[in-house]
Amino acid sequence: MELDSLYQEVILDHYRKPAHKALVANPTKQVHHVNPSCGDEITLNLHMNGNLVADVSWDGVGCSISQASTSIMTDLMIGKSVDEAMLVLNEFTELMQSKGTLTGNEEILDDAVALAGVSKFPARIKCALLGWMAFKDAVSQSQLGK
Ligand code: ZN
Repeated sequence: MELDSLYQEVILDHYRKPAHKALVANPTKQVHHVNPSCGDEITLNLHMNGNLVADVSWDGVGCSISQASTSIMTDLMIGKSVDEAMLVLNEFTELMQSKGTLTGNEEILDDAVALAGVSKFPARIKCALLGWMAFKDAVSQSQLGK
């Protein structure tokens, strides 16, 4: 897999020094997601404060793409409203489904644009989306019954 070297640097940086990778106790919701095709696993703790994503913390094992993507996602989501968070999530999902045709909106996706090249590698898209889908699942579970 060949990614732009600058982007590769961003990914490796998040892989080596993952953000928010230490589960914070007493979450609003905890979810566990796996990507069996690669062996990636993450546990995600979501803390909501009303409609605000107060905190996202996680633990996991897996390839550099899955771990870096989850790290990038937590940085992006913390402090956002559910609506804002879903806009970012939709933007990233669209980027991953673009088969390399999109480069990503850096104003919305920040470091996540570094993963744009992954969309050319169908086998790795699930790696990149794992943390994001776990986050989406945790948010939607936390919204149930409201
Ligand atoms: Zn993977």
